[in-house]
Amino acid sequence: MTKDIQPQAPGTGFLDYAPAPESRDVVRLRSSYGLFIDGEWVDGHGAPFTTIDPATEERLADIASADDADVALAVAAARRAYDRVWSRMAGGDRGKYLFRIARLIQERARELAVAESLDNGKPIKESRDVDVPLVAAWFFYYAGWADKLDYAGLGANPRPLGVAGQVIPWNFPLLMLAWKIAPALAAGNTVVLKPAETTPLTALLFADICQQADLPAGVVNIVTGAGTTGQALVRAEVDKVAFTGSTAVGREIAKAVAGTRKKVTLELGGKAANIVFDDAPMDQAIEGVVNGIFFNQGHVCCAGSRLLVQESIHDEFIDRLKQRLTTLRVGSPLDKNTDVGAINSAEQLDRIRRLSDLGEAEGAERWSAPCVIPDKGFWFAPTIFTSVSTSSTIAREEIFGPVLSVLTFRTPGEAIAKANNTPYGLSAGIWSDKGSKILAVADRLRAGVVWANTFNRFDPASPFGGYKESGYGREGGRHGLAAYLKAGAR
Ligand code: NAD
Ligand code: MN
Repeated sequence: MTKDIQPQAPGTGFLDYAPAPESRDVVRLRSSYGLFIDGEWVDGHGAPFTTIDPATEERLADIASADDADVALAVAAARRAYDRVWSRMAGGDRGKYLFRIARLIQERARELAVAESLDNGKPIKESRDVDVPLVAAWFFYYAGWADKLDYAGLGANPRPLGVAGQVIPWNFPLLMLAWKIAPALAAGNTVVLKPAETTPLTALLFADICQQADLPAGVVNIVTGAGTTGQALVRAEVDKVAFTGSTAVGREIAKAVAGTRKKVTLELGGKAANIVFDDAPMDQAIEGVVNGIFFNQGHVCCAGSRLLVQESIHDEFIDRLKQRLTTLRVGSPLDKNTDVGAINSAEQLDRIRRLSDLGEAEGAERWSAPCVIPDKGFWFAPTIFTSVSTSSTIAREEIFGPVLSVLTFRTPGEAIAKANNTPYGLSAGIWSDKGSKILAVADRLRAGVVWANTFNRFDPASPFGGYKESGYGREGGRHGLAAYLKAGAR
């Protein structure tokens, strides 16, 4: 039985992989970066900050911080570009720019992947095979829409909204940029985007790509800074606010724009149920559960952080899941064999530790995969909590880390009730051999995305977004385009 096997930490056995580091030389970072406003690099007037590599705590670059006046300047540049150039350009021509950007992203894919892994801590195999290909796919997809806006669902001749202020988080820095910028530009809007303070680098490389693509000045502006810069952007003279991040900040933004004419979309947190029925193919479900919560160190808003496993298979499933976790390789994000990279920041690591300790204190049983944790940097071993009750904090609050809470159920009705017992509603997963069961259960789950026999799959053509405290509005697909348009005059 698997229980008797004494697991050994990956990386310590004689049959183990040799290190396979990706070269850092493919990305040449500047020592410091300014703000990208009106097609040019300018100084910021806030106090500059540094962005670090969370795997080594090494400084990567100094980053400018935009104050209120800098943000106003960026918004004014976006307004001019909107009035004079971008909103007047034929959709087909806007599409050409977006296609050009998409191709440049593909050409510079390796550089972008390395920069993303350095700044964020995610494994290179994810930034290389998931993030960056999806970024290119998003630009290609919306490039194709630019001259077809009549079919966006708003009738003939829909109009752009104007200037969009966009604020994004650190977990998928470049991908969240693509989700925001590609549909906005395709629809004829111009943008001011603020990346997260721990992961600004790929947005700044993207500014470089805009220059390379000869994108008209002011169509894309990048302002770096902390939450106060985000606040300034939300309050500025923008026509639309698009935000991805925590529910707490999303609430503040909703308050700040209430009573104004600004349109808003919010993509917030989640606490997704991944439901495994006893008729599911077990090995496949285990891979799906691993992908659901350990992909990107669990820093995923739609992560399958609550495993609901049918009671009759619970013990065997958990044994085999633990066995699988002992083979996960935790370590250098730039190593091509790494499965789980670094936690993005000291603050996030603190939060994961605090919530995990609370889970233990509230009576859940804690198990972590054996692994060698590097001396420097921010790390957390893949962890499972069993015997978690529905009222436990770790069953309710988003941990946003490599921590899985396991609950059980007996009947489909109980699974549905437990899955929906959350203030969130971003995503869910169902594992079963029976199509009819999958459809019946999916129909009753209050979640924006329901995956069946798969998890964490993204496609630019598919809308994504939440119910309840997970936010409102949809990104992706035709719905994501419509979020940047209004009906035209008849
Ligand atoms: P956060 O909300 O603290 O920060 C997100 C962004 O908002 C950052 O750029 C930050 O600088 C900025 N910001 C902070 N305070 C602000 C304010 N008062 N006004 C305007 N902007 C402000 O979240 P985080 O710690 O960066 O990300 C983690 C959270 O984001 C998690 O809860 C996660 O679920 C959520 N998230 C959701 C999605 C989604 O698609 N629904 C995607 C990724 C992350
Ligand atoms: Mn960083």
